[in-house]
This record gives sequence, C-alpha cells and structure tokens, in this order.
Amino acid sequence: MISKYLPSHDNYMDLYKYPHKFAVRPFRMAANIYYVGNSAVSSHLIDTGEGLILIDTTFPHTYPLLINSIWEAGFSTYDIKYIIHTHGHFDHYGGTSELAALTKAKTFLSAEDARMLREWPELVMADQCLFCYLGLFTPDVEIEDGQIISLGNTEIRSVLTPGHSPGVTSFIIKVTDGNATYTAGMQGGAGLNTMNITFLEKFNLDVSKVRNDFLEGLKKLEKEKVDITLENHPSKNGTFARRKKMLENPDAPNPFIDPAQWLPHLSEMREKFNVMLEEEAEALAAP
Ligand SMILES: [Zn+2]
Repeated sequence: MISKYLPSHDNYMDLYKYPHKFAVRPFRMAANIYYVGNSAVSSHLIDTGEGLILIDTTFPHTYPLLINSIWEAGFSTYDIKYIIHTHGHFDHYGGTSELAALTKAKTFLSAEDARMLREWPELVMADQCLFCYLGLFTPDVEIEDGQIISLGNTEIRSVLTPGHSPGVTSFIIKVTDGNATYTAGMQGGAGLNTMNITFLEKFNLDVSKVRNDFLEGLKKLEKEKVDITLENHPSKNGTFARRKKMLENPDAPNPFIDPAQWLPHLSEMREKFNVMLEEEAEALAAP
C-alpha cells in the first residue's frame, strides 16, 4: 500500500528549483516574536533583549532567505545566541550548521533526535531532500523533557512530544511586551508522513509506541494555557491569514494573541491523525 501521507519529490520540486518564490517578508507577530521563515516552513526569532533566539532554520536551500529575513526584520545574524529545534528533520535544521559556524550560536536539539542524527540519519528524511549539500549537525545541548532555556527576558520550557520523530520537542515560551507577558506555544511536529503504516514498517519502527507517544504528547500540551499559537509549518495555523488581518486592520487587537486558538489547533492534529487511522483500517479491510 502506497500511503498518500508520504510526500513525493514532485511536491518539493518547485521549492528546490525556485526557492525565492517561497520568500516571505518577515514581520513581528506579537510581543518579541518575529516570523523569519518562508511560505513552506517557519522560523521564529525571539528578541530577548540580551541576544536573539532562533527556533528552526528551515531547509538547506532556503538558508539564504532566512539570513535575508533576519536582517530585513531589523536584526543582525551575529546577535543570535541560541538556535533551538523542534525536531531533527532536514526542513527544520537545514541552515543550522552554516548559521552556527557564522554566529557561534549554541545549538539545541532533543537528546532523542540528536541520537537519530548520529545513528539513524536516514530518518531525517534526507531521501526527500533533493538538495545535494544536506549535512547533519551535532547539537551543543541535548534538550531533555521539561528543560528551561532562558535568555534575557524570555524563558522557554521544553515538552517532549515524540511521534512525528523520536524527539519532537514542543515549546512553551514566556515572552514580554512592555509590561505585558504572554505565553506562546508551539507543538513541535505532527506530520503524518512519518506516522503512517508504510513509513513505520519501512523503518521497522514500533507502530503502537510511535502513535501512542504522539497522542500522549497532545494530551500533555492540552494542559497548557497558551495565548499565542506558533507552528513550524505556517499553513497549519493560518499564520498568513492572521498576518493579512493584521495588515488590513493595524489598529484592531493583534490577531496572533488569541487564547482560543491553541486547543482547536491541537484537536485538528488529532482529527487528521484519526482520519489516517480510519483510512488505513479501511484499506486493510478492503478485499
Ligand atoms: Zn518533520
């Protein structure tokens, strides 16, 4: 059975040929959080007052766009102190080696995904990356569940939510905006491309463990109170629709500050996952 949840090279071809088509003008989302990613994959920059934290570095071939966006947002790449990652797939750490070498920033990745990069690099989805210069990287810090990463006025708590990769890490982020404080949250990865039966069997992974871990991660996150819902793929939380609203009506309340978004966002992930399970069961039952 060929799963529709496995991406094909065709889906990515335009991105490899014409990465500039995916360029997005950077913008301040809320508080000290800036969007510096492209239209396919996110990168978030946090201005902590004592240096910058970058969450994810996009694809290897969109690294130049990321650099441009950081400068265009009004920051210097040389002020990046920490580069932290939601998980160890190539579309989230593609620019990390170069950026870390340039800035001397400290790099962070969960211990589980650091191990995946060391011992099982085929799981970083590199076979889907047509870019020929994809490298791996060794993080300076291996993130543990519940670890606090602090810099300046910002505190980030990690919540280990494996499933999509062995070490998907979600982040609960305390940010400030003048006298106001907000909690931003990001589920670190829920793609079904690595949780469908075809993928799991291909790599001989424990199907029920991977899937139970994913659902347990969602339950952990549902206990969090989040004002600003971040996503490492902008299409999954309507990042650009909210940005459009913001541009159309700059005096209205900030559409990114929306405490009602978090729980439905997580529910949508669970629903998509359940649809996949139903489709697999139907395919198995078919004569
Ligand atoms: Zn991924």
